[in-house]
Amino acid sequence: MRKAGIFLLFQLISFTLFSQKIDYTRKIIDTLTSEYFSGRGAADGGEKKAAKFIAKEFKKNGLKEFDNTFFQKFTYSINTFQGELNVSLDDVKLIAGKDYLVDASSGKIRGTFQLVWYNKDNVPSKKQLKKLTSRNFFANKFIVIDVAGVEKENESFHLLKLNVIGAEGIILIEDVKLTQHLSTTYNDFGILTIKRESINRDFKTITLEINQSFIRDYESQNVIGYVEGTEYPDSFIVLSAHYDHLGKMGSEVYFPGANDNASGVAMLLNLADHYTHKEPPTKTIIFIAFGAEEAGLIGSKYFVENPTVSLDKINFVFNMDLMGTGSEGAMIVNGAIFPYQFKNLLRINTENDYLPVIKKRGKAANSDHYWFTENGVPAFFIYLMGGIKAYHDVDDVSKTLPLTKFEASFRLIRDFVDEL
Ligand SMILES: [Zn+2]
Repeated sequence: MRKAGIFLLFQLISFTLFSQKIDYTRKIIDTLTSEYFSGRGAADGGEKKAAKFIAKEFKKNGLKEFDNTFFQKFTYSINTFQGELNVSLDDVKLIAGKDYLVDASSGKIRGTFQLVWYNKDNVPSKKQLKKLTSRNFFANKFIVIDVAGVEKENESFHLLKLNVIGAEGIILIEDVKLTQHLSTTYNDFGILTIKRESINRDFKTITLEINQSFIRDYESQNVIGYVEGTEYPDSFIVLSAHYDHLGKMGSEVYFPGANDNASGVAMLLNLADHYTHKEPPTKTIIFIAFGAEEAGLIGSKYFVENPTVSLDKINFVFNMDLMGTGSEGAMIVNGAIFPYQFKNLLRINTENDYLPVIKKRGKAANSDHYWFTENGVPAFFIYLMGGIKAYHDVDDVSKTLPLTKFEASFRLIRDFVDEL
């Protein structure tokens, strides 16, 4: 009876702690994906606001600063779309993010232009394209490039995509899913991707207004804090997650980035809370929320080139990105490169039944772990799989993020770090 009572009490405490963690996690993800943070890009200072918010959470969680600041500043250049954004085909107004995306490297453009549709049946030869260009045929025109049914894109399609013909802009047709990215360069013509169901050959004109601005030397920052190790303070483990995302597309639309990577930041903050308030680590743990990951792993590159502690003292880096799902387990990038650590991770997972499966990959430049391994520091990058399909689009929202294996992943990472 007494035993059962204690067991129930234990269950209750562990359940309460669990739901506290989920409440905190949801709060962090809701906050970072809210309109105030503008998709955590360069537009409206969204990235900067997010960095400030994370630094506040670092402080609340009791992390310490290097050189009296949580911020490590750096600059980069980025192409952005702020202000008015309108696209219509004839009289039909398209919806940004649903019907179309402005390509990350698009230039500024405004006006009404004729549409010319090129597909597998009517794409001109290289010679014909040259002739048409010399006759100024493409002035005031937008080229729709439809590669449906094209087995191997010939040179004409390449030339059209590069717009060497000097059209006002090009339109690429997307059959599956609109997926946005960022660009640190830009073109002097308009580039749109439109979903196939939102465009057809009956449309004769496009009217558009794209306010593109290229920001040179935009100031960004990594957010860095640490908790000192009780036994080996000069030995370091890095836990990281990028906090930036794709920002805005026009004044109305922003990319919330709930899974990518508000979820990873929430994991990072939960781990910070754990190691400061519940179980001090034996080695020093450095927590890094990287900036400018989406623009090309820029924040982590800067860190590796300007590390706050010498890189050879970093035992291991565990980078977290896309932590909001997990029904299909996890992938460990670099799992195939570091078999000893991967074996340990698998053992911990099997012993505790945390995730249904953990898969491994070789190296990939797909998140912030990359520059560490390139510079001789062992690193894992974990992302969870299954559940939602939203990725780099307007649908990556907190409301539909399931957090299926968030708690299990937290325990997995904690147990793994404790053994390092
Ligand atoms: Zn990401």
